[in-house]
Amino acid sequence: DVPVLTIDGPSGAGKGTVSRRIAKRLGWHFLDSGAIYRALAWAVQRRGVDLDDEDAVARVASDMKLEFVCNDAVQVIVDGEDVTDRLATEDVGRIASKIAAYPKVRRALLEKQRAFRRPPGLVADGRDMGTVVFPDAPYKVFLTASAEERARRRFLQLKAQGLDVNLDQIIKDLEERDRRDRERKESPLVPAGDAVVIDSSNLTVDEVVERILARLPQ
Ligand code: C5P
Repeated sequence: DVPVLTIDGPSGAGKGTVSRRIAKRLGWHFLDSGAIYRALAWAVQRRGVDLDDEDAVARVASDMKLEFVCNDAVQVIVDGEDVTDRLATEDVGRIASKIAAYPKVRRALLEKQRAFRRPPGLVADGRDMGTVVFPDAPYKVFLTASAEERARRRFLQLKAQGLDVNLDQIIKDLEERDRRDRERKESPLVPAGDAVVIDSSNLTVDEVVERILARLPQ
C-alpha cells in the first residue's frame, strides 16, 4: 500500500510551500490538486466554454490532456501547451473556484488525482485530499491560518511574481473563495475526522514542516 500524506486547508495557509518541502525531504511524489483545477479553468477559458454550463465544463475535465513535468520546478502542460506561468493569476483562481463547485467536474477529476499515488509515497495538497480523494490516507493534516495572515502571504507571493496586486482586493477574493469552498454541497472544505489541525498563523514554514514530519514514522 503506497502511503499518502494529505495536506488540506484554505487558500494561503501555506500548504503549497509546506507540501513541496515535505515531499522533497521524504523523496515522495507531490500532487498540487489546486493546479489541476486551475489548469481546467485555463482550458475552459481557452476553449471558450460557457462557465455556467456544468456538463460542458465536466467534458473538458474528462478530455483535457494534463501533464505535470518535474524538473527543478513543476511545469503544467495542458493539451500540449505549457501553461505554468498562467495559472497563478487571481483571474484563473476565481474561475477555478467557481468550476470546482460542480459535482460532475469533481468526479471527472478524481481518477486523474488518484493516479499520482505511486511508490514510494505521495504528498497531496488541496481541499478534499483527506476527505474524498484519499480517504484511506494514513497521514492527514488540516493546515489553517487567520484570514489576515493568509491574505498577507498571498499578497507577498503575487508581488514576488511581479504581478500587480491590491491587498484589499485579495482579502475580498480570499473570503469569497473560502466561503464557496466551505459551502459547496460536493466535497466542502472541512477537516477530515482523522486529520491533525495545525494553525500556521504564528509558525514559520520550517516549524510547520517539522511538526508534520514528527508525526510520520522516522
Ligand atoms: O489551491 P489553489 O488556490 O491553487 O486552488 C484553486 C481553487 O481550486 C480553489 O480556490 C478551490 O476552490 C479549488 N480546489 C478544490 N479542491 C482541491 C484543490 C483546489 O476545490 N482539492
